[in-house]
Amino acid sequence: MRKSPVDIDKQNAVVRIRGLYKSFDTLDVLMGMDLDLYKGENIVVLGRSGSGKSVLIKLIAGLLKPDKGTIRVAGEEVDRLSPKELQELRLKIGFLYQGSALYDSMTVRENLEFPLVRNSPPLTRKERDAAVYEVLENVGLAQSIDKMPAELSGGQKKRVGIARTLILHPDIMLYDEPTAGLDPITSSDIITLINEVQQKYQTSSVIITHDLTCAKATGDRLALITDGKFSREGSFEEVFRTGDTEAKKFYDYNFI
Ligand code: ADP
Ligand code: MG
Repeated sequence: MRKSPVDIDKQNAVVRIRGLYKSFDTLDVLMGMDLDLYKGENIVVLGRSGSGKSVLIKLIAGLLKPDKGTIRVAGEEVDRLSPKELQELRLKIGFLYQGSALYDSMTVRENLEFPLVRNSPPLTRKERDAAVYEVLENVGLAQSIDKMPAELSGGQKKRVGIARTLILHPDIMLYDEPTAGLDPITSSDIITLINEVQQKYQTSSVIITHDLTCAKATGDRLALITDGKFSREGSFEEVFRTGDTEAKKFYDYNFI
């Protein structure tokens, strides 16, 4: 598991989910899901394609509405917030989308400045520059500030994506398949960065991944979705040591 875990505060759930249901027409995706994410913790969510992992983090970020159940983020019930309150809560949540979703026609600097327009009161030019420079330094890309996304490698784009979510200093990070499509070495660099981010920014994170190397290196706890619920939850060893069929399949297909 993680090499240098920060303190996890088990008295303080930054995300608390109870009895969560979400369907699309006749497709039942989440069916009675419960989850606690504690302050300082990294939880890794595993599950087959289509099992509802991305839907789950979109619900946490208030981008989708639950059919039933409650989601509390930083003590607030997401579903009950006014649009303005939800907007404020979203500032506390960094969402790294699948793919990096950078704006291709903007430079790295412009991509990073974009979220800062949400800052109120507005930042001065000097403050914006300092904020951009700080996050770029922290993801090791200060020299690429004036490049276009097309000039960056897959791993560098991912770093800029992470920098963009960090620029508003979120309390919670939601990573959707952060190492997908990256070669093993770049992937390992991103894993290191995720753990560094946790240390530097004191975030709590939900990390969706199919990559068990990433799961093992970043997760304090793993949770496996089967049939719309978490069927297994615990340390890497606890999830994979048992005879659970879905967990076994996951393990076997990762390490053949
Ligand atoms: P994954 O675990 O691969 O991330 P998702 O959470 O993206 O899966 O999706 C779970 C299921 O819900 C999939 O079958 C997907 O097609 C469906 N789904 C997700 N979002 C929507 C939507 N906005 N409208 C209709 N169906 C959706
Ligand atoms: Mg997904």
